[in-house]
Formats: sequence, C-alpha cells, structure tokens
Amino acid sequence: MSRITTDFERQRKQMVAGQIRSRGLCDTLVLAAMENVPREAFVPEQYRFMAYDDGPLPIGEGQTISQPYMVAFMVEALALKGGETVLEIGAGSGYAAAVLAEIAEEVYAVERIGALAGLAARNLAETGYDNVHVSHADGTRGLEAHAPYDAILVSAGAPDVPETLKGQLAAGGRIVLPVGSDRRSQSLVRITKTASGEFEREVLADVRFVPLIGAEGWDELSWPRTFW
Ligand code: SAH
Repeated sequence: MSRITTDFERQRKQMVAGQIRSRGLCDTLVLAAMENVPREAFVPEQYRFMAYDDGPLPIGEGQTISQPYMVAFMVEALALKGGETVLEIGAGSGYAAAVLAEIAEEVYAVERIGALAGLAARNLAETGYDNVHVSHADGTRGLEAHAPYDAILVSAGAPDVPETLKGQLAAGGRIVLPVGSDRRSQSLVRITKTASGEFEREVLADVRFVPLIGAEGWDELSWPRTFW
C-alpha cells in the first residue's frame, strides 16, 4: 500500500528527530504530540515555509509562537500521563494548547489580547482540537471556573509566580513557567504542589519569553520601554 506523505509531514518528522529527540527529550507522549500537531496551521501564511524552523516566529500584536523545542521541553516538564485538565496562560497562536490537547483530556487556554484569542480559537477549530477552550482574559488571575488544574503552563515571562495560579493547582499538580526580574530573560521554573499542599520549586533552564502582562504579572504601561 502506498503512503502519501506531504512535505509538511516530512518536515515535522525531521523537526522531532533533529530538534527535539536529538536534544534529549524522550517522553513518548510528548514526541507523539509534536509529530501530530500541524504547526504550519498555527503560523501566519507568510511564514508557513518556516513552520518547522528551529526558532520562534511572529504571530502579530508583537507576540511570537514559541520555538518547537521550547514547547516540547515545557510540556515534558509538566509530566502529563493523559486524562488531565490543563490550563495554559498565553494562548497566542494556539499551538502549545494543541500540543497539550494531544495528551490531556481538557485544555483551558487564556489570552489577554483579543485578536490573538480569536486567532487561537480559529486555528484550533480548523485543526479539530475541540477539547481546547479559549478565553480572552488576564490569565495571571487563572480561570477559577474550571479549577483545580492538574497542570498549568505559562507561556509568557512572569516577574514572580502568580499566587492565584498556585491556588488553582490540584494537589500533586505542576506549574511550568518562566520567572525573572528582567522582562526579557527568565529561568524556566517548575512548581509542584505536594499532597500536603506545600510548594516545591525547581529551576530547569534559562529562557527568553515575551512578558506576562497583568494584575499578577508585569505592568502594561512600562512595556515596551524603548526611549534610548
Ligand atoms: N503559547 C503560544 C505562545 C504565545 S506568546 C503559542 O503557542 O503560540 C505568549 C502569549 O502570552 C502572547 O500571546 C501574550 O499576549 C500572552 N499573554 C501575556 N500576558 C498574558 C496574560 N496576563 N494573560 C493571558 N495571556 C497573556
């Protein structure tokens, strides 16, 4: 029987082998998710030919779709087994939410920029991820309606771990987020809530994300500050 393979499928397999597996990520659920999500459907038309490049790409409104390796790294750090309820803060294009939705049962994705919340919802509907629910809101306040969450992924850099997100985490759950006192560079941190309700903190990597802006994030007025 012949197999029809599109060029994007071939590029996607190469991306998983050459950018993700080769750098040591090995969670089979994450690797399978990265092989299934059509990244080309989440990048703007004019960048589609770069959809499987090893870096972030612009998605409008001054925001970016993260590098594929970074998405895989963060999702692996969440240690999902399947069946979870997951919250993502910073839906952007919807790509990371789609990767989460390949593994988890339900994904709630929050985005503060209305145009991007619409973009994420459209991209996810077109690719058939009907277990992702996008809201337009300040995600530093989490999403109380569906809490607690087994895992929370924050896709933008926070000055500190938002207390509200810790409060919406289930016992045994994990938050993975970039944290740093500099708006443009952070440490990727994993917070684990123990069975007794304590929080453990691990630093996983040095990363660079766009800022998390909101009540428990950075102040909008002071970004971007380009007077010099
Ligand atoms: N996960 C996205 C990456 C988007 S970049 C993807 O796969 O495409 C980070 C996003 O976080 C931006 O879209 C930005 O608007 C959003 N963001 C920043 N602060 C936020 C907040 N307080 N609540 C929700 N989204 C926020």
